[in-house]
Amino acid sequence: MSEVSLHKVVKRYDEVEAVRGIDLNIADQEFVVLVGPSGCGKSTTLRMIAGLEEITDGAIKIGGDVVNDVPPKDRDIAMVFQNYALYPHMTVAENMSFGLRLKRFPKDEIARRVDEAARILNIKDLLARKPRQLSGGQRQRVAMGRAIVRNPKVFLFDEPLSNLDAKLRVQMRTEIKRVHQKVPVTTVYVTHDQIEAMTLADRVVVMNNGVIEQVGPPNELYHTPATRFVAGFIGSPAMNFIPCTLDEAGGGGLAVRLPDGTTLSVPADRSARYKSHAGKSLIFGIRPEHLTEQRPARDGEALAAMSATPDVVEPMGMETLVYFSLGDDEVCARFNPSANPQVGAVTAMSADMANMHLIDPNTDKVL
Ligand code: ADP
Repeated sequence: MSEVSLHKVVKRYDEVEAVRGIDLNIADQEFVVLVGPSGCGKSTTLRMIAGLEEITDGAIKIGGDVVNDVPPKDRDIAMVFQNYALYPHMTVAENMSFGLRLKRFPKDEIARRVDEAARILNIKDLLARKPRQLSGGQRQRVAMGRAIVRNPKVFLFDEPLSNLDAKLRVQMRTEIKRVHQKVPVTTVYVTHDQIEAMTLADRVVVMNNGVIEQVGPPNELYHTPATRFVAGFIGSPAMNFIPCTLDEAGGGGLAVRLPDGTTLSVPADRSARYKSHAGKSLIFGIRPEHLTEQRPARDGEALAAMSATPDVVEPMGMETLVYFSLGDDEVCARFNPSANPQVGAVTAMSADMANMHLIDPNTDKVL
């Protein structure tokens, strides 16, 4: 079993506290992605798991054993970086087998493992080539192959796709997911790209400012973010945040009042949850996909009518992004292209209040 667990892990560089006491338990075979903006501490966390950085305080366990003082080479981990660090003078097969040859594995065992990894990664035809004869995506596969042949307890990926162009990134993302399904080794993967995090992870760990904001499966973070930071970080285009007042409406109901005076009824099943905040100034959070052209409700939706005057319209093919101003804020909606929204024309819209969020501006917590 190769669980990885972090217990109150701290990393301090002089006066900078890069990681501020994080707790995280990663199950055997789980694929966990650490995501967050630049400088939030995700690479430092990964490097501490790898043993490339000493930890200032706390404990890290791999497979149940505390590894705080175990050097990287004895942690039974394999790391894949963004610069693949392949040896230019060696063939693909030699690059993949290098670590095993150093450890004096028997020749036939090395051949078997390289062959198996090449099959999984679909690079059997490339084994005799040198790195310079490979495309970026092929080099990335070889770097993964080199990790797979070692049969480690844990894979660590540090932004492995950031050197690839946009199209290749998407292909390799799918490839990494496919490889993990075939070789389900416990994986910790670092990226700043929330889409990469959502698509790859069993569980996403959102970091900010050296702490973990929230941990959960991708859809849980998307639908029930715990903080304003997570709500704004997960999802693209990002969630809209609009200052509002929570009004008492007739019959014990509640309504969100926006800066332009529009009121949107809060679904009855949220009343109990929000009741104690009635009368307060809050932040209304709603994703662009829950603000659309006016339309009939589908199952589970609670549509409220509003109107807006688009100032920018961006056709994307499968949808059209519509931007409009509300008070001091720019708001984004996602329309069906057939609604044909026009700049400058007052446009009827639907807000799906079954997917609304309310945020306390004092704590930044989602209520
Ligand atoms: P991320 O990977 O999320 O971009 P890092 O883990 O690389 O962030 O860095 C977290 C914080 O620690 C940043 O403020 C960074 O400047 C600081 N930091 C990282 N490495 C060092 C170092 N070797 N010396 C001093 N500060 C560092």
